[in-house]
Amino acid sequence: MTSASCRFCGSRLDVVFADLGMSPLANSYVPPERANAMEPFYPLRALVCRECLLVQLEEFESAEAIFSDYAYFSSYSTTWLEHSRRYVEQMIERWGLDGSSQVVELASNDGYLLQYFVERGVPVLGIEPAANVAEVAVEKGVPTLVEFFGVQTAENLAAHRRADLLLGNNVLAHVPDLNDFVGGMKLLLAERGVVTMEFPHLLRLIEDNQYDTIYHEHFSYFSFLTVRQVFAAHAMRLFDVEELDTHGGSLRIYGAHVDDDTKPETDRARELLAREQAAGLGDIETYRAYAGRVQTDKRDTLEFLIGLKRDGRSIVGYGAPAKGNTLLNYCGIGKDFLDYTVDLNPHKQGHLLPGSHVPIRPVEALRETRPDVVVILPWNLRDEIVEQHAYVREWGGRFAARSPELRLLP
Ligand SMILES: [Zn+2]
Repeated sequence: MTSASCRFCGSRLDVVFADLGMSPLANSYVPPERANAMEPFYPLRALVCRECLLVQLEEFESAEAIFSDYAYFSSYSTTWLEHSRRYVEQMIERWGLDGSSQVVELASNDGYLLQYFVERGVPVLGIEPAANVAEVAVEKGVPTLVEFFGVQTAENLAAHRRADLLLGNNVLAHVPDLNDFVGGMKLLLAERGVVTMEFPHLLRLIEDNQYDTIYHEHFSYFSFLTVRQVFAAHAMRLFDVEELDTHGGSLRIYGAHVDDDTKPETDRARELLAREQAAGLGDIETYRAYAGRVQTDKRDTLEFLIGLKRDGRSIVGYGAPAKGNTLLNYCGIGKDFLDYTVDLNPHKQGHLLPGSHVPIRPVEALRETRPDVVVILPWNLRDEIVEQHAYVREWGGRFAARSPELRLLP
């Protein structure tokens, strides 16, 4: 039981959706000189609100502590860059954006997306709380404000210019004060403007057992049913939605002011609502039942790895994403299973994974040590990784990934 209250509607939270035990912050990579120091662990437990059915983590640490030195640079993923470039083309065409428009991105990271609007001559502003990441954006020619977005920031900006396109990818789920954030969007959106937000889809999390996408920095887990309520509470309505493959299955929602009658609700928005209802997402019992599937998967994952070790095979990881840290810490997988993991990001190389202390090495380590099995931790980038590292098969190496259970890939 808990005394926490829902970050959207304020109701008391007492139904467990997934209890992943104690875990360090997923992005707190440990520098080698800190290997023997104490590491803070926090409960990693997702609850669901009985009233609005928002799946969420309890608040446990200030957002500043989590995000001020965030090591994630979006531009290290080529798949994600391509996704962003296509998005920019679609938005320019669908909404007729040009040199007289204003695009604002919330959590604009290193300018990975806005750079494509800049290329097309569309004025942009990025808002990004992590100063080290924002600096990279500014160097690329993407104007960026280093701030946490909310009502206060929106008021200041809206006094000068409101946004014709206001976007945020993988930020809504990471916002501690959800009502302040969405309330700010309401203020910053131009009269006929469009909001688009992308976030992992709760329906996919449940259907594909993606509990490893639960981590401390990821506060809220949205269905279309729930996110509609959140926008409605701030006088906006969602008139369209797309289902995307990114991050194991995401939604891209399209919002407008509630009184903007130029944007009728689409068939696919109606269809998705009906499908979520049919999948039981309107029923608290669906959420309650999920908790047991997580425990079953932990046993299956360990059984798989134990089997490989008993056969004498060497196992390493690929990638050092947040989802990998959730999986390793929840299942208790350390150097006893994974000799090391590799990552393209030089900011992570040389560090240890939080909690499990699996060392992060440059990708070249694969060729040097020729492991038997490479477990791909960012399973959402599986195809890209298998293609780029096909040479692993030259020495008989195999790839493994969760899809949804951890198994060897063909
Ligand atoms: Zn609620």
